[in-house]
Amino acid sequence: MISITDVSVPAEAEELVLSVLRSGHLAQGPRVAELERAVAELVGVEEAVAVSNGTVALIAALQALDVGPGDEVITSPFTFVATVNAVLAAGATVRFADIRRDDQLLDVEAIGPLLNERTKVLLPVHLYGQAVDMAPLMSIAASHGCRVLEDAAQAHGATCGDQRAGSFDVATFSFYATKNVTTGEGGMVTTSDGELADRVRLLRNQGMRERYRYEMVGYNYRLTDLQAAVGLPQIAHVDELAARRRANAEVLDDGLADLPGLHVPVQHEGRRHVFHQYTIRLDDEAPASRDELAAQLNARGIGTGVYYPRVVGDYDCFAGHPSVVPDPTPTAVEVAAQVLSLPVHPSLSPSDLQTIVEGVRAAWGRAV
Ligand SMILES: *Cc1c(COP(=O)(O)O)cnc(C)c1O
Repeated sequence: MISITDVSVPAEAEELVLSVLRSGHLAQGPRVAELERAVAELVGVEEAVAVSNGTVALIAALQALDVGPGDEVITSPFTFVATVNAVLAAGATVRFADIRRDDQLLDVEAIGPLLNERTKVLLPVHLYGQAVDMAPLMSIAASHGCRVLEDAAQAHGATCGDQRAGSFDVATFSFYATKNVTTGEGGMVTTSDGELADRVRLLRNQGMRERYRYEMVGYNYRLTDLQAAVGLPQIAHVDELAARRRANAEVLDDGLADLPGLHVPVQHEGRRHVFHQYTIRLDDEAPASRDELAAQLNARGIGTGVYYPRVVGDYDCFAGHPSVVPDPTPTAVEVAAQVLSLPVHPSLSPSDLQTIVEGVRAAWGRAV
């Protein structure tokens, strides 16, 4: 079976984890600080604050931005549920701007009609590893006087213009097991706003500045040195790992681009896609539906994934939620039935890629 995900950590991590175990310092300590410096340097920001996972990173960032009841946050309906759960956990109201059909990313032009005096944060999601078009989004935020929180959970090392994803205002990353960089569970908030980073650090540690001096109501959002040791060697190699994903994507593009009704991932000029997922879209011209193709590939030993089968607002728990505005997003609803992710991870061999291309082409009755 060719799996849709592969969790393999560089061998250097083993040494590092062992040294943490032997140091007797297992909780947040020097390795977490090292991971924070490495991520800040990679992303090109002043501050990176490690937290226990990507969801908590979003919650902490929103809390540090003082987002709460009465405030609105505009995001994509086509995202992992954590994006929406975090806004609700902060007590704010969720608004959905529709996505673009071609790249499945938040449509910056759909933000305008949702803006009002309650809008506090724009929350773009760099879905599948490609950044949202940040320049126009930043100018909307600037002219409306709201902040921008990038959900870069899937976009370690991605770029947008001459900047890295995660460097525009405030951003969050996830180091969950299947993400491009993993610590098992883990997350990070990045920003060059020193005061904001300071608030995230306080929130992370019970609101405590120094021992038993509490400055705000906080929580325990900490990461451990054991986890940081797993992540450090991956941050060092993040561009190399992304290059392998990109090379795999190119092989898939070459093998699939001529199939009618199949759209390979769009890669925008000036935005380096790091291929957390390689997601094809099937339209009505395709000979099989998305689900039929997935079943055929599965029968050939090729794992696939659907990210995501429904828009978040479509589930009862969100559709009926008093803090989720039912903004219509017809493109996202349509696209959710069309997308299929194929394996693209760095551990794929050339013959795996060949098998994937052959498997997809077979559904079109075409040889390689
Ligand atoms: C994974 C993910 C998260 C949440 O990260 P966790 O570390 O799993 O809590 C948030 N947003 C997006 C888009 C994700 O893919």
